[in-house]
Amino acid sequence: MSKLEEKKKQVIGLYGEMRLSMELHELGWQVHRAYIDEGIDFTITIYYCPKCKKYSNQWVRYAKYIKKVKCVTNLCEHCKETELQVISRYLQVKTSEGIATNKEDVRKFSFHPKIRYNMGKEVFYVWIAVFEGKYDKICHYYILNTKDVKKFDNINLPTYQITDNQKTELPIRNDGTVLKKGTAATGYDYSVFNKRFYNDFGALEIEIIKPEN
Ligand SMILES: [Zn+2]
Repeated sequence: MSKLEEKKKQVIGLYGEMRLSMELHELGWQVHRAYIDEGIDFTITIYYCPKCKKYSNQWVRYAKYIKKVKCVTNLCEHCKETELQVISRYLQVKTSEGIATNKEDVRKFSFHPKIRYNMGKEVFYVWIAVFEGKYDKICHYYILNTKDVKKFDNINLPTYQITDNQKTELPIRNDGTVLKKGTAATGYDYSVFNKRFYNDFGALEIEIIKPEN
């Protein structure tokens, strides 16, 4: 890779991380960036009330001390009595602009997870496909737990952890639709990218019991 290409890749990576941070912040997460890159790019945190069983802000109470002052507490803002827990998720973020194909509205992306093990329920990948929009860039987010990789890739191959060849190549249309179909022979199903992973920020909220669908 040339110096310029490397620089471009770095810039698009930062751009994806910035857009993702804004999305997460909007959803109430605090975003912490890794100081040294060891695979986990973001740690995100949110307060959770174990009694109300929902996410909460810190209750701000006002006390009279000479004059009225604001006190930030460690209590839930809903019930105002339970100490909040800090919940964390760990994200490996990968951003790409993909490469051109023979179709104008389709680009090819290759995602290569750096962490290639099932790392438990709190570790997620966020894969971001960036397209040129009319005015601004468009970001499509695919959010999946590390345990979900086995749905579309063979993580049991001995080469899986050690080589760089094991990549998931996905043709993606500019509306975010992953066009790759799974095959019966491999049993892999790439439709999970469209049905489950696409913009699935709710996947991060593992404390919240969702109705089965
Ligand atoms: Zn509460």
